[in-house]
Amino acid sequence: MSVERSICPDIYHPAVARDGLLTRLRIPGGVLNESQCLEIAHLVEITGLEYIQVTNRANLQLRALSRDLDNEVLTKLTDCGLAATNTAVDGIRNILISPTAGIDSQELCDVRPLADAWHEYLSHHSELGVLSTKFSVGFDGGGSVGIVDRPNDITLLAVGDHEFSLHLGIGERGSAPLPVGVRLELDECLPMLGAIAQSYRQGIEELGGDVRRKPRLRDVIRHYGLAGFSDRVQREFTGSRRFIFKNLGLDRDSCGANGSALAETQCEHHLGVHPQSQAGFWYLGVVLPLGRWTIDQIKGLGQIAARSGSDNLRLTPWQNIIIPDVTTANLERVQRLVADLGLVQTANHPSSLLRACAGATGCQFSATDTQADAIALANYLATNFTLDRPLNIHFSGCDKSCAQHDHADITLWGDDRHTQLPGRYRLSIGGVTAEFGQEESDLLPPEKVPISIGKLIAAYHDLRLDPQESFSTFTNRQSLIQLQQILHAV
Ligand code: SF4
Repeated sequence: MSVERSICPDIYHPAVARDGLLTRLRIPGGVLNESQCLEIAHLVEITGLEYIQVTNRANLQLRALSRDLDNEVLTKLTDCGLAATNTAVDGIRNILISPTAGIDSQELCDVRPLADAWHEYLSHHSELGVLSTKFSVGFDGGGSVGIVDRPNDITLLAVGDHEFSLHLGIGERGSAPLPVGVRLELDECLPMLGAIAQSYRQGIEELGGDVRRKPRLRDVIRHYGLAGFSDRVQREFTGSRRFIFKNLGLDRDSCGANGSALAETQCEHHLGVHPQSQAGFWYLGVVLPLGRWTIDQIKGLGQIAARSGSDNLRLTPWQNIIIPDVTTANLERVQRLVADLGLVQTANHPSSLLRACAGATGCQFSATDTQADAIALANYLATNFTLDRPLNIHFSGCDKSCAQHDHADITLWGDDRHTQLPGRYRLSIGGVTAEFGQEESDLLPPEKVPISIGKLIAAYHDLRLDPQESFSTFTNRQSLIQLQQILHAV
């Protein structure tokens, strides 16, 4: 097996991280069955790890491996559909779909067949193996749990029964793709994706660059200009439609069918119990704290899905899992079985909307041990508070914000300008409102994070105008000085 190292690994090419080798299993569409779960559990067991982690692209990753996976393991993974049969394209199978595709009562179109067709296309186009392993394509069915705000290179958003708006990643790094003024019929989607991917490939070949840091699609588009790139795609497009890409910014095509605005977080919408579009069936959104999925939980959820669902689990880009197709008669029992695995199912639990990047144990750029600090905070909040509304808290070891690109209710950024490791945290509170940490005294040492954030939440509970006032509305009503007094109150 090749051991070429990448900064964004696939199963055949692990990356070197601070804590060992890092490898990723691309799960197109995030869909798993029980036999795949058993294979994943076995993989975690033989590597001596305690858990696998669901990523914010609804893939799976293993950290801290002591050696490469051997050929026997890779063959087993391939045989059960967890690795590409065409090794050249394993790394570019980042295919994200609405995790409630086919069961969402609000969706306009079930995008699963489209995602399968794109996966099939990639399998037969080895030449696309030169694309960046970060290349990602999303399919949003326009329902209540959308992925149009996820930072894919390309997203097709259903805007009608069989009509899609094309979005391209032409904004800043980490931002959602934007509509480019092209609407496609269902049968035009695959030819358009193929034409964009081939134009991107040609752009990479012309631009060259470090094999470890290949140009992203946005770099190629910037190089040619949007109109120039549009011309190139038109030449590759096998359909009859004429088009010119235009940057429409945030227009009505930026929204899902439920009217949810671009970049509005939808991360809690899928948690808990929800009725499906099929009468008498329910789906259950289950929380995996920081995306961690232990061996017993992998086997357990796989078994629950096989015996009480449709042998189908959905990974979400919010690092959680959905069990679809549970009948009304089975619902209570399934909830009990999930709880027996130590997993919560409510968006109000402190673990539900907690995000953390790899942190100092896994990433050389991190000033703090984000994962450990996030877990310490979740445990403190779970012991001391009953949250009555979901709260999204994001820990990032540096300003790159790998774990969550959009704003959280509370963001803590690792900062080691004033200290050696362990660094301290700079805070942003209430989304875009207050940002602390320009002064050294504003920075929070990791050990003070739980009690300080606890004070903030206690103040929110005590002082909000009414139970419906959101955390960000409450914190936006406070001045910077008031927030500082709350955080640093003795
Ligand atoms: S956010 Fe920074 S510290 Fe965290 S994983 Fe990304 S690069 Fe590393």
